[in-house]
Amino acid sequence: MSISSLVKDLRDKRISSEEILDTYFKKAYIENKELNCFISISEEYTRKKLANSKIESELSFIPGVIKDNINVKGTISTAGSKVLENYRSPYTATVVKNLGNFALIGKGNMDSFAFGSSTENSGFGVTKNPLDKNKVPGGSSGGVAAAVASDLVLFGIGTDTGGSVRQPAAFCGLVGLKPTYGLCSRFGLIAMGSSFDVPGIITKNVTDCSIVLNSIAGFDSNDSTSIKVAKKDYTKFPKLDNVKVGVMKFPQDGVSREVLDSFDSSIDTLKKMNVELIDIDFKYINYSLAVYYILVPAEISSNMSRYDGIRFGDHPKGGYSSISDFYKDARDKFEDEVKRRIMIGTYTLSQGYFDAYYNKATQVRNLIKMEFSDVFKDIDFLISPTTPTLPFDIGKKINDPLEMYLSDIFTVTANLIGYPAISIPNKKFGNLYSGLQIFGRPFEEDRLLSLSYLIESKLWR
Ligand code: GLN
Repeated sequence: MSISSLVKDLRDKRISSEEILDTYFKKAYIENKELNCFISISEEYTRKKLANSKIESELSFIPGVIKDNINVKGTISTAGSKVLENYRSPYTATVVKNLGNFALIGKGNMDSFAFGSSTENSGFGVTKNPLDKNKVPGGSSGGVAAAVASDLVLFGIGTDTGGSVRQPAAFCGLVGLKPTYGLCSRFGLIAMGSSFDVPGIITKNVTDCSIVLNSIAGFDSNDSTSIKVAKKDYTKFPKLDNVKVGVMKFPQDGVSREVLDSFDSSIDTLKKMNVELIDIDFKYINYSLAVYYILVPAEISSNMSRYDGIRFGDHPKGGYSSISDFYKDARDKFEDEVKRRIMIGTYTLSQGYFDAYYNKATQVRNLIKMEFSDVFKDIDFLISPTTPTLPFDIGKKINDPLEMYLSDIFTVTANLIGYPAISIPNKKFGNLYSGLQIFGRPFEEDRLLSLSYLIESKLWR
C-alpha cells in the first residue's frame, strides 16, 4: 500500500478514516511486540486529534510515524534516551504541524539523541529489521524505517545529521531523503549537531516521498537557518535533459562485494538511460568521516549541556550536598554512546586542542564544500553507494564504535556541505537490499526526485 493508493481508496470511499485507524493501530500493537519500532503508540492522541477531521490534503488520515526526537505536543518525546523518558514538549515541531491531519501511529525508536547507525543505542531496546529479524534496521531512525518497511505506516519523518534517514532507508529497502539544509524547518527537532541536522523523509517509493516533501518543505521564522525559496510542487517531476551524473570514486576496502556489484550495475542502468557519466575523483572527500566525527561531537557536547536535571530531564531525588553531585546523578542516565560523544566533543573544544581539532576540521569542511560546488559546475547529480555493507547482525558492531562510525562513510558528506541526497533501493540480495545514494544541487529536490523516479522505474518496474 502506498500513500497515493490509500488516498484514492479513501476518496472513493472504499475505506473510511475510522477503518484506517482501527486497522493500523491494531497492527501496530501486534507487530511492535516483536519489532520494537515504536517507543510509544499514539492511539489516544490521534483519535482525539482526528475526531471531526475532514479530508483536506494528500496526507489526511494517512498513517505515519514520527521519530521520537521530534516534538509533538500531547505525546512524550524521549529522543530514545532514558533521560527524557517522561518529557512532554509544550509545542509541536513545524514539520509535524505542516503534515496536517495525518494519522500519527507512533513515535519511532532511535539511537539515543540520534547518535548511532543501528538503533542499538536506544534506551528503549533495539529495533529489529523487518526484512531479517537478526539484522539491525540501521539508524538512528531505525524505528521509523522498520515501521514503514513492515507496513505499519505509509511514511515516516526522521532526522538526518550524518545519514540517519538514508542509511536506515537503505537497510530496510526504502526511499530516504535528506533535504537541503534550510529547506525544512528544524524547529521542534531535539538538537544533535545543529549545523548538520535536518528532518528527512522515509517512504516506500519516490512518489510518496515527493508527496510528503510537498507538505513539510517551507520557510519557518522559528528556525534561524530556514531559507526562503520559491514553493515547488515536488510531485511534478521536471523533465531532465542532457543530464550529467558524476560517479564518485572511493576506496574499496571495507566496501562489501554486494555493494560494489550493485553500484556497478546501477552505473550500467544509468548508461542505458542515456545520461552522461563522469568519474569524479575528489581530493578531500576521504576526510569527510574524520571531519564529521570531530565537528558533530563538538556540537553535541554543547547541545547536551541543557540536560542538567533542572531544565530538562527528571530531577534526581534525594538530598545532595553539592550541585555537582546533583548534576552527576542527573547525567548518569545518559546512554554510553551519549557519554562518549560528550567526552570527545569536550576534548576537541578544550583549550590547546581547539585549534588542532575543531578549527582544523572546520577548515577542511570548507574545503570539501568548495570542492563540491566546483565539481557541481560540471555535473547535475552525483552517485555513490549509501552504505559500505548490507545490514549487519544485531550485536556485531555495538562494542566497536569505530567500526560503527565507518558505516556512515558515504552519508556524512551531504550533511557537511548541506546538499540534498536521497537513497533508493538498488539491488535485492535475498530479503535485503543495497542502497544507491544520489546527491543533487542545493534546493533542487525536484530534479533529484525526478532522476530518482526514473532510476526507480528502470530498476523496479
Ligand atoms: N550515524 C551517524 C552518527 O552516529 C549519523 C547520525 C544521524 O544522522 N543522526 O553520528
